[in-house]
Amino acid sequence: MVETTLDPADWAQFRRVAHDVLDQLISYIENVESRPAWQPVPEEVKRRHTAGLPEDPQDLATLCSQISTDVLPYATGNIHPRFFGWVHGAGTADGLIAAMFVAAMNSNVGGRDHAAVYVERQVMAWFRELVCFPSDASGLLVTGTSTGTLVALAAAREKVPFERRHQLRVYASAEAHLSVRKALKLLGLPDTALCVVEVDERFAMSIPKLRASIAEDRARGLLPFGIVGTAGSTSTGALDDLRALAEVSAAEKTWFHVDAAIGIATLMHPRLRHLVDGIDRADSVSFDCHKWMQAQYDVGGVLVRDGEAHRRAFSAVANYLPREQRGTAGGDPWFCDFGPELSRGFRALKVWLLVSTHGTRALGEVVYKSHLQAQRLAELVAGASDMELLAPHPLSTVCFRFAVPDTEGPDKTDQLNRDIVITLQERGIAVPSLTTVRGKVGIRVNITNHRTTMNDIVELFDRMRQVRNELGG
Ligand SMILES: *Cc1c(COP(=O)(O)O)cnc(C)c1O
Repeated sequence: MVETTLDPADWAQFRRVAHDVLDQLISYIENVESRPAWQPVPEEVKRRHTAGLPEDPQDLATLCSQISTDVLPYATGNIHPRFFGWVHGAGTADGLIAAMFVAAMNSNVGGRDHAAVYVERQVMAWFRELVCFPSDASGLLVTGTSTGTLVALAAAREKVPFERRHQLRVYASAEAHLSVRKALKLLGLPDTALCVVEVDERFAMSIPKLRASIAEDRARGLLPFGIVGTAGSTSTGALDDLRALAEVSAAEKTWFHVDAAIGIATLMHPRLRHLVDGIDRADSVSFDCHKWMQAQYDVGGVLVRDGEAHRRAFSAVANYLPREQRGTAGGDPWFCDFGPELSRGFRALKVWLLVSTHGTRALGEVVYKSHLQAQRLAELVAGASDMELLAPHPLSTVCFRFAVPDTEGPDKTDQLNRDIVITLQERGIAVPSLTTVRGKVGIRVNITNHRTTMNDIVELFDRMRQVRNELGG
């Protein structure tokens, strides 16, 4: 009888294929600029991706060439220096190496006693240091800020009686990320749990409006239990006044959570760090490593000051998961006690390698560089007579648009800007995205890419104008 394993029948041949692939991928990253920033997936390629469940084995080298032709060229585009859409990080070459180590070990970091656990603890200790959280705060790497916020708010809910869930209120600004609403929904809270607080002229949560909402809610017998501050909003990069929010939260005895998906990176540069002043007073912080910090997808994290509340929200016992003092089942506490996942990948290694390879100084320089590039773009826009800035740009996101004369109507302006963005994308020149700011559709350029140079910004600006002229109107 043949005892099947999934190992290569011929390791020498596997080694050759693997080496070739590695070489190819290094070139893929090295030469990213020679390819379009984005290109659509051709119909025939889409069709090939609908082939049915394979029963028979196929040759690995052939499959690798298939990936090279049908997958690699049609990436999101975010490793390209002129990708400015949404908030995407670019990843690093060292991330490729981390991914290989992780795949070889195939560790399950839900718990137990093995090296990956210690690497993740070390990485979380680094983030505690960065945010100035106490050493007994708990921390966990997760898929991203959406999960981080869910985990943090689950810990917060441990502090209030769940029977009162119909009266619970969480305050976030109108600019807060949709993941806050999602988290509350997943926690079983009704839609009324979220109180959307208006923003001021800088798109920051209005503190007087927040105070007023809380007072009103208390008068109605509701139970204010959380305030979510945004350290860098997705649409415009707006920053809530975290210090002021911390003060309101302390006075009202609520849980103060900070969504630092974007803002976490500013802590690495001395000239930007003040933008998130007050983050150290949060009860919990969720953040992304795969955005402005440049780690490969997917990885973000969550820190919770009250580690016990955090553990209570997620720990569960089962007879098949006993904890031991020694042996493989040691290593208490286990990460699975702090989040929804039991089996967890070794996300920590890519963060560890990234931060160790470059150090926070170089990572911070990249963040500051993006910030300066955004300021330069904003200057160019401000200097153009047919363009208008739509919002302040305190971080590295700039929202603006080409205006058309009033006589042609606002819909025409919206459509023009949409067409410019889509044309730039389809031609593979650059990938900005679209947003709506105070009812105006605008071009949104977000710079969170370590490969972007000032030349790319100038080129983007020139090419936008060129496309605008071609489109006429
Ligand atoms: C991207 C983003 C999120 C969600 O993060 P994911 O990593 O995509 O889950 C939350 N908040 C803000 C402000 C973001 O920009």
